[in-house]
Amino acid sequence: MKFALVTGGSRGIGKAICLEISKLGYHVLINYRSNIEEAQNTLNQIKENGGSGELMPFDVSDPEGIKAAINQWKEKNPDAVIEVLVNNAGIRKDALIMWMKDEDWKDVLNTNLDSFYYITKHLVQDMIVNKYGRIVNVVSLSGIKGLPGQTNYSAAKGGVIAASKALAQEVAKKNVTVNCVAPGFIKTDMTQELEEKDYKRIIPMSRFGKAEEVAHVVSFLASPNASYVTGEVISVNGGLYT
Ligand code: NAP
Repeated sequence: MKFALVTGGSRGIGKAICLEISKLGYHVLINYRSNIEEAQNTLNQIKENGGSGELMPFDVSDPEGIKAAINQWKEKNPDAVIEVLVNNAGIRKDALIMWMKDEDWKDVLNTNLDSFYYITKHLVQDMIVNKYGRIVNVVSLSGIKGLPGQTNYSAAKGGVIAASKALAQEVAKKNVTVNCVAPGFIKTDMTQELEEKDYKRIIPMSRFGKAEEVAHVVSFLASPNASYVTGEVISVNGGLYT
């Protein structure tokens, strides 16, 4: 059996990624923080499609929780290698910098950036030894362009992009690739308070994207077919170029 871990797999883009990665033949470890019902829904859909998976709850912003969950899983599955990692879980807490609360800066950096470091660190060694691995990080247009009201989120996503480019060069010789996918406006719980009609004007495709449209690109980068692509950032934003 081949294993893939997708963080934030209970809802939105992460859920769509779990379903696509499962089609590549992976047993999907579905991470989530608190929403067990939605995580179970993702797992049920994978099973309905003939795939397999299991739930792996942990808070991606908690280094000790990450370590405990991954080590526990490795003890139960001593010969297994997680060869695909999708760092997708993320949050935003927008405010202009002068009104931003310190904890909102820290929460967004911990959840979107530090999580990349702590989770990847635990899994990359096995990929290197195994001489095969795919790491895909879900970032954002905000991390490329910078968006007002999102200094915390832009810093976090921009940090993941830079770290991915560095790591890609560290592990390239071992057949481990590291890439980013940068969505624009995608219809999920994260954007539910945004009115699509207010943004149509600035998006060449005149609509928000679907989670599945992001998941297809992630799935390609997570597949053996993307063997010579590394250190890249692919935008999925309906032509909303920076
Ligand atoms: P979403 O609908 O709000 O779902 C967020 C997912 O992340 C949920 O599965 C949630 O788990 C999980 N999560 C959040 N904090 C977590 C934590 N501390 N530990 C573990 N899991 C956690 O978000 P989305 O729109 O699908 O976004 C997915 C990724 O795409 C994020 O990195 C986001 O920044 C990025 N992105 C989204 C858009 C967009 O327009 N939607 C645009 C650009 C980039 P629970 O269900 O347990 O809460």
